[in-house]
Amino acid sequence: MCFKKIISKAILVFLMTAGVAYAKVEKTFAMIKPDAVKTKVAGKIISMIEENDFEITAIKKMTFTKSDAETFYSVHKGKPFFDGLVEFMTSGPIFAIALERDNAIAEWRKLMGATNHLEAAEGTVRKLYATSIRHNAVHGSDAEETAKEELKQIFPDL
Ligand code: UDP
Ligand code: MG
Repeated sequence: MCFKKIISKAILVFLMTAGVAYAKVEKTFAMIKPDAVKTKVAGKIISMIEENDFEITAIKKMTFTKSDAETFYSVHKGKPFFDGLVEFMTSGPIFAIALERDNAIAEWRKLMGATNHLEAAEGTVRKLYATSIRHNAVHGSDAEETAKEELKQIFPDL
């Protein structure tokens, strides 16, 4: 094989590997919070998830106990909004959802919109359905490690 051919083959292999790495299927944890379940927009949010090419690999309706909510949001323990957040998260049923897609973590957070709905971009879930910084309709893991932990807490058999 001539030198030129070897180089072009190497470039091709590199591009294919990079392409596969870029399109890596990632898992994330999503939740439709008690406010959105109560106002019956869960179906609309699930449609948005499907329309944006996510695979729903598991979904369940459940109600957080105080201990579930405190564990789930333990990173926020000690913050002024923690007790109110736990009270809100235990106030009614939620939909817990396991998602898969390329760049699922970032893509789901993009579709959710900013934590504060007043800062959320047009067309995002929070822009459409959040009513306050607390009652903001949805949750999404913020990194690979938290996605793993949250999925393990809610879907231990997945
Ligand atoms: N939250 C709140 N008050 C605040 C900030 C956050 O009640 O001042 C709630 C809100 O429901 C938010 C959750 O706490 O979604 C977790 O906060 P985080 O900063 O992790 O936002 P997220 O990752 O959900 O965008
Ligand atoms: Mg968060």
